[in-house]
Amino acid sequence: MGENGVGRKQSGQTWQRFVTDLVIELCNEQGARSFSRQTLLAGKAEAIKKFSPDAQTPEQTISRVLQELRDKDIIGFSERGIYTLLKPAILDGELPDSIQLLAQDRGTHKVEYIHETYARNRGWVLAAKEKYGCQCLYPKCENGFNKPDGSPYIEVHHIIPLFEGGEDSLWNLVTVCAHHHKMAHFAEVPVQNRLRDVFLGIVERGDYDPVRD
Ligand SMILES: [Zn+2]
Ligand SMILES: [Zn+2]
Repeated sequence: MGENGVGRKQSGQTWQRFVTDLVIELCNEQGARSFSRQTLLAGKAEAIKKFSPDAQTPEQTISRVLQELRDKDIIGFSERGIYTLLKPAILDGELPDSIQLLAQDRGTHKVEYIHETYARNRGWVLAAKEKYGCQCLYPKCENGFNKPDGSPYIEVHHIIPLFEGGEDSLWNLVTVCAHHHKMAHFAEVPVQNRLRDVFLGIVERGDYDPVRD
């Protein structure tokens, strides 16, 4: 843990603030916003122990605080036992500072678009690229282009946005060209809905065929 880690007990620091920082730190480290209670407890056992050496049942306290954070919509929870960090909209290190400032003034949807676009090197983004390659999954799309180094340019999109309960999981991610990505976020609502249905159909069929599509 670095010197900015949240493992140090600070006088007056509440459990809620502590657990929030812990979750943000975990998500930054793993490069994904989804986590299980077990991942948090196992990955941050040392920090929890340091924060409250005398706690008899820290697991129960953490569970209670996670519930409080759900009530405040700071984290979401799926039936499959997966928590998703909803706030902040952008994690540390995902954006250059100047863009982070810009993003604060924007609506949630735009923030999420920026978050996705600039988080290309994170684990789940790489997993989506590995699965789908560098091809836009919109049927028959021919908008691809290459970067100066000759490698294809591609973006990764959350089909169901995080703030609507989507996850940083492979089932919720598609590779898209810049044009279809912007359409998915900024087009008229019926067009956005159609794109969402198309992408959901592709990931749910599980039979993506780059030649046919
Ligand atoms: Zn997107
Ligand atoms: Zn496309």
